[in-house]
Amino acid sequence: MVRIRGLRVIREFDPWGSPLCTCPHKFTLNPYTGCGHHCLYCYARSYIRDFDKPRPKNRLLINLLHDLDRLPKNALISMSESSDPYTPPEHRLRLTRKALSLIISKRFRVLIITKSDLVTRDADVLSKGRVAVAITITTVDDSLARKLEPEAPSPTNRIEAIRRLSKSGIPVIVRLDPVIPFINDDPLDVEELISEVAKAGVIQISSSTYKARLDSLKRLCSAFPSLKDKLIDLYLIRGVKISGYYYLPYEVRLKYMLMVKEISEKYGLAFTTCREGFKFLNTPGIYCDGSTYTYI
Ligand code: SF4
Repeated sequence: MVRIRGLRVIREFDPWGSPLCTCPHKFTLNPYTGCGHHCLYCYARSYIRDFDKPRPKNRLLINLLHDLDRLPKNALISMSESSDPYTPPEHRLRLTRKALSLIISKRFRVLIITKSDLVTRDADVLSKGRVAVAITITTVDDSLARKLEPEAPSPTNRIEAIRRLSKSGIPVIVRLDPVIPFINDDPLDVEELISEVAKAGVIQISSSTYKARLDSLKRLCSAFPSLKDKLIDLYLIRGVKISGYYYLPYEVRLKYMLMVKEISEKYGLAFTTCREGFKFLNTPGIYCDGSTYTYI
């Protein structure tokens, strides 16, 4: 892979140098620094200052134009890996919309990762490009979601967004990410989620277990005090540290991913895992991030 020098806002995707990542090569663009959704388990909150106060990147569009001229033809740009491109200020600023219009006009492939139904506002732009949308849903229980992802749009709204995007012909995958022990790991709840999103038009589930950092584990233990001892035992005592993150023991991760795979396949959906090193569980020929559909 040839490294591209001099990029200003686009970055080559680096999944923490994780040996367990199965992503294809791609670039990433974050129109905003920080995110307003305040998810308890968020990984990015650990390493970005004032993360909970999202602000636009300086001179985003000018710098983006500069970078797009340097990318290889057909490059895949993922929006976004370290914030939500539809974080609350996007309602007013429309920076993601403007960036998308530029990227799509230059024929690059785009992958959107979001928890916001605001993405449907841009269906007109998205439907002109080689685009896939990944919507993260960790539970269909709106009250549990309010606890886990306090400022993000409700799962009900996200499922409606899936329906609307799919109807517009835009491929949508769901990230059931992360699966957190004792919180959203009940197979019956997972099946309810997968059956709902399958009805709404999703074509693939990509799933992953929660990887703990000390700050995110602390937030989860404060929100769910009765689970504190069990979470600490699973992650800090029995778990394994990989690339700076505490992973669940191998057999526990595998059990969870096999459960999500079995249910996804029951509903006729492709299945992949994210940052687990379980490529053997992925539906053959399908990328873990949803980018398969951007080649069409
Ligand atoms: S939406 Fe994503 S980036 Fe934003 S707080 Fe939640 S996990 Fe973090």
